[in-house]
Amino acid sequence: MQVTFEETKTLKEKPSDNELGFGKYFTDYMFVMDYTDEKGWYNFKITPFAPIALNPATMVLHYAQETFEGLKAYRTREGKILLFRPEMNARRMIKSNERLCMATIPEDLFVDAIKTLVNHEKEWVPHLEGTSLYIRPFMFATEVAVGVHPASSYKFVVILSPVGNYYPEGVNPVKIYVEDEYVRATKGGTGFTKCGGNYAASIIAQEKARKLGYTQVLWLDGVERKYVEEVGTMNAMFIVDNEVYTAPIDGTVLPGITRDSCLTLLKAWGYKVHEEHFSIDFLMKAAREGRVQEAFGTGTAAVISPIGELFYKGDKQIINDFKTGAITQKLYDTLTGIQYGKVEDSFGWTQEV
Ligand SMILES: *Cc1c(COP(=O)(O)O)cnc(C)c1O
Repeated sequence: MQVTFEETKTLKEKPSDNELGFGKYFTDYMFVMDYTDEKGWYNFKITPFAPIALNPATMVLHYAQETFEGLKAYRTREGKILLFRPEMNARRMIKSNERLCMATIPEDLFVDAIKTLVNHEKEWVPHLEGTSLYIRPFMFATEVAVGVHPASSYKFVVILSPVGNYYPEGVNPVKIYVEDEYVRATKGGTGFTKCGGNYAASIIAQEKARKLGYTQVLWLDGVERKYVEEVGTMNAMFIVDNEVYTAPIDGTVLPGITRDSCLTLLKAWGYKVHEEHFSIDFLMKAAREGRVQEAFGTGTAAVISPIGELFYKGDKQIINDFKTGAITQKLYDTLTGIQYGKVEDSFGWTQEV
């Protein structure tokens, strides 16, 4: 890839590894490229991390043609920098963009852009255990026009943020509010895409849950509010009677890469996996009867997040005494082990930058 490099005037002071938090600090540079229907993708650049000026009539500001991805770069003990299944993010962004009638980015170009930027910003990949460099690729319509139609021009940007734990609680159980009023996605909609609009629409439920003392919401299906779908930015899995339950990927749930990786591991370990619709009533009843042994969310940001409490219509159920379960812990250790190069990568999931 031919990339133009623009040097920054001043390099930032790097934060210390134990005060990173999540998404608060950004590195010195970003990757940018542009698209027009005539030229395709062009103008590949690594430029200083800086504001982007937009014409007030830019389409994304009015019609929300925006999609994004999220992945991480991990530093191994030997000092290698690893990415985890970046081609899956590339393919998912293609699907998101197709749904929103946005231009798509070829898989190789997407992965190359990320590797080029991360390689340039290597020094920013933190060293402390549990830390990583969060990679946020995103793309939006730049055509200047008022009027709803597919845009003819786009900008793709990659920014990087050194991060610690997603939840201030760390790898400890979180309290989940089962949302029975608002919905996130319906069949035929955009639930399977990572588009900004999905999250804009979800914040109200997140706020409601937060005010009631809950960390995240568990969404139910958008039609009957009956079937369990996923958590705010994580897929959700439940171990009931030693078998794994998670919602299927059929249009409303985000096809998480962590979800796919967990299911692959769980199947390899001999667990029976139900990727099928199951109702919140089934789940709460099983919880009341003490049959929900473990519950957890899966996503790049938090990796595995144990669920310690479910609250649904006044019924509060504590899962596994609000402790991290053995399967949850094993998944976390195995996945992070592979990501940090400490556990053999028998599925070929990591790529060196
Ligand atoms: C990003 C995301 C996930 C998790 O996907 P990963 O690829 O595992 O990070 C799950 N649900 C939603 C709604 C998401 O936005």
